[in-house]
Amino acid sequence: MPDILDPQLKRDLFERIRYYNELGIYDFYRREPSLANFSATGLVTTSEIQPQQREEMTPRSKAVAVPVPEDDLLEVTDAKPDSSVSDPVQALRLIREDLGDCTRCRLSKQGRKQIVFGVGNPKAELMFIGEAPGADEDQQGEPFVGRAGQLLNNMIKAMGLRREDVYIANIIKCRPPGNRTPERDECETCSPFLMRQIAAIKPKAIVALGAVAAKTLLAINAPMSEFRGRWFDFRGTKLAVTYHPAFLLRDPRQKKETWKDLQMVMKKLGMAIPAKGVE
Ligand code: URA
Repeated sequence: MPDILDPQLKRDLFERIRYYNELGIYDFYRREPSLANFSATGLVTTSEIQPQQREEMTPRSKAVAVPVPEDDLLEVTDAKPDSSVSDPVQALRLIREDLGDCTRCRLSKQGRKQIVFGVGNPKAELMFIGEAPGADEDQQGEPFVGRAGQLLNNMIKAMGLRREDVYIANIIKCRPPGNRTPERDECETCSPFLMRQIAAIKPKAIVALGAVAAKTLLAINAPMSEFRGRWFDFRGTKLAVTYHPAFLLRDPRQKKETWKDLQMVMKKLGMAIPAKGVE
């Protein structure tokens, strides 16, 4: 990128940064323009990168400061509200406000009743992340309140915790029509808000429920067998993967396996392990 930017390009660049900031994205990487992937601003966010590239670009040390003029930079950093807010309750409130009555993706026009933000203890040590709200969640505005939610409650209880001790959220916050799997662009549009929720809550561990949550958070395309039984590092937070409760409703024999995953989590959190498993 040239040292002195054309004024129009500078304005475009600034607008684009502001747009990504609104989505909760603040880290940018500079890529050299090539015939294959030219972008007018030369900027790429982590959400635009293919999974295999994203892994390569993850280390923070590779981040390159974008030459934005100082006045503009002030405005841009001012748009980053929750990083300066240490109280997670307040930070979550700001994130919810930024989300507003979101129409950033097509799901807002495809029959969702309401946004399902997340629920639980803003200072939770443990966070569960599912895929997307279903019909009951869409109706009630709270994640995991249907049959799968009852089973998640049982999992939490088996760990010796209460639902209100943990924080529960989904990769996307609106119900996809017919409960279809979220599309990639829907996950990419919505997940920056989840990233901000995680950063505000600062859990000691995250449990991704099912393959969609695991694949989206880790940007790894792998089967459940490769996700389970090990720890991943998710932006400095320990992340484990277990079966989605909806899958356990279909195949209850796998509850034994889920209990093993949850025991691994309890051990990491220094919790006593109750004898009884998930019912
Ligand atoms: N399934 C999910 O992934 N999330 C919910 O909130 C409910 C069902």
